[in-house]
Amino acid sequence: MNYQLIPKELRWIAEKVEAQQRISEADALRLYQANDLNALGMIANVVRERKNGNYATYIHNRYINYSNICILSCQFCAFAAKKRDAHAFEYAIDEIVCAVSDALRLGITEVHMVGGLHPTLKKEWYLDLLRRLRALDPQLHIKAFTAIEVRHLAQRIFRIPIRDTLETLREAGLGSITGGGAEIFDPVVRDQICRGKETAAEWLNVHRMWHSMGGRSTCTMLYGHIETLDHRADHLRQLRQLQDETGGFTGFVPFAFEPSQSHGILAHIKRASAFEQLRNLAVSRIYLDNIDHLTAYWVSLGLPLAQVSLSYGVDDLHGTILEEKIFHMAGATTPQQQTVAALEHAIREAGREPVQRDSHYRHISPRPTSERHAASPPPELACA
Ligand code: SF4
Repeated sequence: MNYQLIPKELRWIAEKVEAQQRISEADALRLYQANDLNALGMIANVVRERKNGNYATYIHNRYINYSNICILSCQFCAFAAKKRDAHAFEYAIDEIVCAVSDALRLGITEVHMVGGLHPTLKKEWYLDLLRRLRALDPQLHIKAFTAIEVRHLAQRIFRIPIRDTLETLREAGLGSITGGGAEIFDPVVRDQICRGKETAAEWLNVHRMWHSMGGRSTCTMLYGHIETLDHRADHLRQLRQLQDETGGFTGFVPFAFEPSQSHGILAHIKRASAFEQLRNLAVSRIYLDNIDHLTAYWVSLGLPLAQVSLSYGVDDLHGTILEEKIFHMAGATTPQQQTVAALEHAIREAGREPVQRDSHYRHISPRPTSERHAASPPPELACA
């Protein structure tokens, strides 16, 4: 690292990073307050390169939001609906199976599935869904349900302990749980933006349990609303602490609040700037020394800024996604999908070597066409 290019007040943090010493929460705060974005990028780049060399990855995946009907009303969420609302939706299992089998023929390796906390869908519905997706292609990785969905299923739908719920879901086909629902861990902020949602301890505990069962998951942070920089540093601290304990997080995926449809306490919030998003990624990369991968969520950043973020600590551009609803119902103007070619081009142009990855960030080769044809929908289904 060229220390001449690092401002004096950050040099000692840069030295720690280069010496592979862990930085403190106070250091993270100092970095969050720094305005020399290029210096932050340079320090973050040391960590990225040490962990991932010149590779940058993406996954070929398909998102499914099975329903937006939800018993909660988080302030930041423009996706959720009550059953009576005009924009409420709920897909039938057959429709989901058709959509996933179409995507399998395009070469996806993962389906990523989350929804609202649905009040009436039954246990058998969830298990049938997982089993039928698993039957389509045993190699398909099913990444599904946030920690809050898992708690909802355990307490209100399955009515069994969380560990048993996770085990039951896994037996039916669940490959990993998603990182959503973490928002910001601070209880006061949480009470204002998502009252009724699980606490930080409850979110962390679902992941702790899943990791103790040999499972892996990702973790997230929703920032750029009413939280302070202290709250962000505290959020990172709690993630790093759990990762020290379990080692089960494969990647960190921060995303900025999408304010287009915001109201109430969030009505005055402006979208996080490009500068802020890059700074947040760089600080996360430097602080989370025990999480190997940092993903730029292009749905929120846009692909051009996600590409730039490859020079600010990021080593992964997320995936093809094929149909994103949650951010787009909140007003995101980015595309709803990316092609493999677009992701690879963005990576190559940034001077990195693009590699397809699986759901645990392991490098893989694209699926051969012969395997994709095997994933046709069952003949009794008339998919459009
Ligand atoms: S963020 Fe999740 S839990 Fe909160 S209202 Fe939206 S769908 Fe429901």
